[in-house]
Amino acid sequence: MFIPKPALSTIGTTIFTVMSRLAQDCGALNLSQGFPDFSGPAELMDAVTRHMAAGHNQYAPMAGALPLREAIAEKVAAIYGVNYDVEDEITVTAGATQAIYTAITCCVRPGDEVIVFAPVYDSYVPGILLSGGTPVYARLSFPEYRPDWNEVRRLITPRTRMIMINSPHNPTGSVWRADDLRELEAVVRGTDIVVVSDEVYEHMIYDGRRHESVARYPGLAERSFIVSSFGKTYHVTGWKIAYCLAPRQMMNEFRKAHQFITFCVNTPGQLGLADFMRLRPDWYDELATFYQQKRDFFRQALAGSRFELLPCSGTYFQLARYDRISDEGDRQLAERWTREIGVASIPVSVFYSDGTDDKVLRFCFAKSEDTLARAAERLRQL
Ligand code: PMP
Ligand code: GLN
Repeated sequence: MFIPKPALSTIGTTIFTVMSRLAQDCGALNLSQGFPDFSGPAELMDAVTRHMAAGHNQYAPMAGALPLREAIAEKVAAIYGVNYDVEDEITVTAGATQAIYTAITCCVRPGDEVIVFAPVYDSYVPGILLSGGTPVYARLSFPEYRPDWNEVRRLITPRTRMIMINSPHNPTGSVWRADDLRELEAVVRGTDIVVVSDEVYEHMIYDGRRHESVARYPGLAERSFIVSSFGKTYHVTGWKIAYCLAPRQMMNEFRKAHQFITFCVNTPGQLGLADFMRLRPDWYDELATFYQQKRDFFRQALAGSRFELLPCSGTYFQLARYDRISDEGDRQLAERWTREIGVASIPVSVFYSDGTDDKVLRFCFAKSEDTLARAAERLRQL
């Protein structure tokens, strides 16, 4: 049998596929892969349906449907006070995954180094490897998951081509502060380092914190690809519609790759999102309140359990340390508890290249209160 030489020999199947499939096979409550178990807003569904029925079903422009790019530009200007040009600086992508992959592909060449922060979201490193780059790991300190800027400075070499950041952070729920962004701005000043800023959880930030988009920092914005996802913001992860912002010349390079990776994205979905964004500019504040309540509900439901709940300042993920319950490895335990107690979670060690296991599981709280209450009841028995 012919077996081609693999390009990703060190990479297995993503944990999200593994755990969601196991949860389904076991009939477990699925708090593993991050997606809501409730629907997006009815007006959004109606808007997409309307566009489909009106015959808006052929290819969208390569950069994205114009009304959506306009709505994105207005939103970013209103929230972050920064103007991105509708024609040249905004591109709609097939999910944040494609935007991130495209940003890496259009910049990273063999031999380049890319700094990522561990624990690191699982799509970044395969993208770097497929471009012939070398991932270089900075560490977020356990258990606060804070960056160490002296370490980042030490990791920079003449080959450093890119730094990839993500706040609010998956899997930890930690959030970078203004001084982190100022540190990063100082680190890259005078270099040709590109920043990829994964801001898919920009609107899920709690306790009165402010999202520090790199768009707010001119020394970063001038060299950054900023990525956000409608899947997270409007409870429609299955639509795979997201966007990337970047200054004109960077976006020009991005589109050279984008046009041959996917060319364009679902037309009625884009047009429906544009309508909804205009209809509900208040959505973002409500979303933060909505998820903060879910976070608090889930944390209260777990009070009295033997888990140690780590702080959650953003995202829809709650980390829980289980070392008072078991000394088993997190991956094995996540799989065993899916089978035995019917609650699926994500083991955090998979986000470390060296398999660091701090005995922490990630639970997604983008679920109905009923699901969260039932999961918590089972977890309290442990
Ligand atoms: N980045 C992070 C940090 C994520 O959590 C996710 C998805 N959950 C993505 C990127 C990918 O987003 P999308 O589903 O829009 O591809
Ligand atoms: N980002 C989602 C999570 O962290 C999963 C997305 C995916 O399945 N690729 O759970």
